[in-house]
Amino acid sequence: MRRLAEIPPTAGLPPRLSDLFASGGDLAGALSAQLGVDTALTTCSGTAALMLALRIAQLRQPRRDVVVVPAFTCPLVPIAVHALGLHLRIADLAHGSLDFDRGSLHAQLDDRVLAVVPTHLGGRVADVAAVNRLVAGSGIAVIEDAAQSLGATIDGRSIGLAGDIGFFSLAAGKGLSTYEGGVAIARDPSWLEAMQALQHALPKQSAFERRRCAELIGYTLLYRPLPLRWVYGSPLRRALKRRDLIGAIGDRFPLDVPLHRMGGWRQSVGASAARRLPRFLDERRACALTRAERLRTIPGVHVHSDRAGERGVWPILLVQLDCERRRDTVLDRLWTAGLGVSRMFIHALPGYLGLRDIVPHQACPNAADFAARSLTITNSPWLRDHEFEEICRVIEAA
Ligand SMILES: *Cc1c(COP(=O)(O)O)cnc(C)c1O
Repeated sequence: MRRLAEIPPTAGLPPRLSDLFASGGDLAGALSAQLGVDTALTTCSGTAALMLALRIAQLRQPRRDVVVVPAFTCPLVPIAVHALGLHLRIADLAHGSLDFDRGSLHAQLDDRVLAVVPTHLGGRVADVAAVNRLVAGSGIAVIEDAAQSLGATIDGRSIGLAGDIGFFSLAAGKGLSTYEGGVAIARDPSWLEAMQALQHALPKQSAFERRRCAELIGYTLLYRPLPLRWVYGSPLRRALKRRDLIGAIGDRFPLDVPLHRMGGWRQSVGASAARRLPRFLDERRACALTRAERLRTIPGVHVHSDRAGERGVWPILLVQLDCERRRDTVLDRLWTAGLGVSRMFIHALPGYLGLRDIVPHQACPNAADFAARSLTITNSPWLRDHEFEEICRVIEAA
């Protein structure tokens, strides 16, 4: 049966028209209260937050020029490093894990390294303590990429506070969204103050901000199952027809990154939506835990979840299958089914042709294996139980 609706691939907080008419809201204030910190800094994107953090790290350590990132992460991360004129190194993941392989990370560390970027993917919590232990006393900054994990905690505290800086993304589909945006938090407020001063010096770019406002209005109107069929589903199907997998998940980015400030109106829209976030995250968590249990009854299926002390968030269920062929069979049936089944990143970083000039050509077998055997199932409230069961049956049959 042909479905009319398209369920989004992640559980973005459903926007409300009334958010557009809420004025004067303080997004940084709302989020710092929710995250249990004194201050937070809003930025024009997660990538911009990373760039500001790296810039400050560099001002503090001017002789260092290398950034180490996981081999499986968002292509915007190497682009941010490149845009600052810094050099990228990659470290492999531990096998079957989203965390760095300790030996691989250790091998990349020397006195040129400015920062390491442990990354909290798909709502899960990365082992930042292990990275801290490796870099202790070396002067290397630890920048937590929590773009996909706003609201996650470790030992009752927000992620992003174990390293020097943590940032979250407010891009479309990433939990809370101002269409594009970011938030940074830090244990030591001097980092945020320095980043804020840098950001203040950026040009205003009103034309750019006007475009973002229009996009946020569009997002508010169209981020629901029926219109998503047209704005997300159709381009997805067209890209897959041309076998353009990177285009299908929207992971092709220009090499220049816009840097400006998020305007006041978008911040007040975000602040209005943010009031619904804690409850939304709790509901999504309850749903995800039940569904993860169901998935675990299927042989050969692994669902990434929390370890002791971690309380991640659940934009997706991140699933690893026992082999690539089975994963591909499942995606052949489900990627275009409108049920929110997709992939996180198509390749490990060295696999992206568009990044070949900025990413080291280095074998990262565990990251490549992760990319080959994983798929994502949306945890959007719009995916109903019988539809989730349909997905499970396809995985069982594959
Ligand atoms: C999306 C994402 C980013 C970049 O955030 P934007 O707000 O889109 O600039 C960085 N890292 C990871 C892991 C991401 O998923």
